[in-house]
Amino acid sequence: MTNGDGQPGRSRGWQGAVLKMLGADDYQFTVTGTERISEHYIRIGFTGGGLLTARPLHPTMWVRMWFSDRAGKLHQRGYTLVDADPAADTFFIEFAIHDGSAARWAQQAAPGDTIAATFMGSKFALPEPAPKGWILVGDTASLPAINSLLDAGVATAHVFLEYQHDDDTDLPLRSREADVVHWVRRGEGIVDTLRANKFDADGHFGWVAADTKITRSAVRVLRSDFGIDRGSIKSQAYWMANAKPS
Ligand SMILES: Cc1cc2nc3c(=O)[nH]c(=O)nc-3n(C[C@H](O)[C@H](O)[C@H](O)COP(=O)(O)OP(=O)(O)OC[C@H]3O[C@@H](n4cnc5c(N)ncnc54)[C@H](O)[C@@H]3O)c2cc1C
Repeated sequence: MTNGDGQPGRSRGWQGAVLKMLGADDYQFTVTGTERISEHYIRIGFTGGGLLTARPLHPTMWVRMWFSDRAGKLHQRGYTLVDADPAADTFFIEFAIHDGSAARWAQQAAPGDTIAATFMGSKFALPEPAPKGWILVGDTASLPAINSLLDAGVATAHVFLEYQHDDDTDLPLRSREADVVHWVRRGEGIVDTLRANKFDADGHFGWVAADTKITRSAVRVLRSDFGIDRGSIKSQAYWMANAKPS
């Protein structure tokens, strides 16, 4: 199964045209294997078609992949590199499953399938000097990025994760012994849980990636209740709730 037309800039609408204009780099990824971690979470291995050969890795590094909707229109979606091996130009991507083009593609992917991807916009360096601790807020879509921060050896983290399916809480979170983890079911107030666990977070760094609304609210709480200034918070909305399924 091949997705995209392999012709960078074609069939990708205005988003593709803008990325092209900005000089974004295009790649073709090839699936090497797939593993169903749970009913709603799939891990897929890829070779990067040169993605990693000339580019240093950073925690939370992500790419824009081009998925076709049922009408054949391409949509770019952000996905995070997991367990990347630059020397081999290989990595994994973990897909949280719902009803959408990207999630549908992941469920059908098989070794040998190819998909077009663009690299542009992924940028994050661990802050210097190292923060005293971290507050990480996310969900199963940002679990791979959160794991990449924990793997990078950040200081003790308070992790707030929203889940939608009962077995999501068994997903492989790479927390260390000292980390404090809160799983909160979607709809049961992850932002309230965050607020209820506030502490004087002077010297801490906040990292937030969830749906648009929760991302915005969580950043507000980190600033007002935890006292973290804007410069010590990195946030990005990873998805939009109630978007029209693609
Ligand atoms: C920088 C970045 C990195 C990302 N990394 C990852 C990653 O590693 N793994 C990952 O799974 N996702 C990741 N995401 C999120 C992913 O891009 C979105 O979830 C995306 O919307 C999925 O596209 P889709 O075509 O499947 O669904 P869409 O067409 O975007 O949406 C279809 C329907 O599904 C709903 N929906 C979309 N995403 C979710 C979700 N996560 N949970 C529940 N419902 C949803 C929408 O509200 C809509 O109703 C990342 C996003 C960004 C910006």
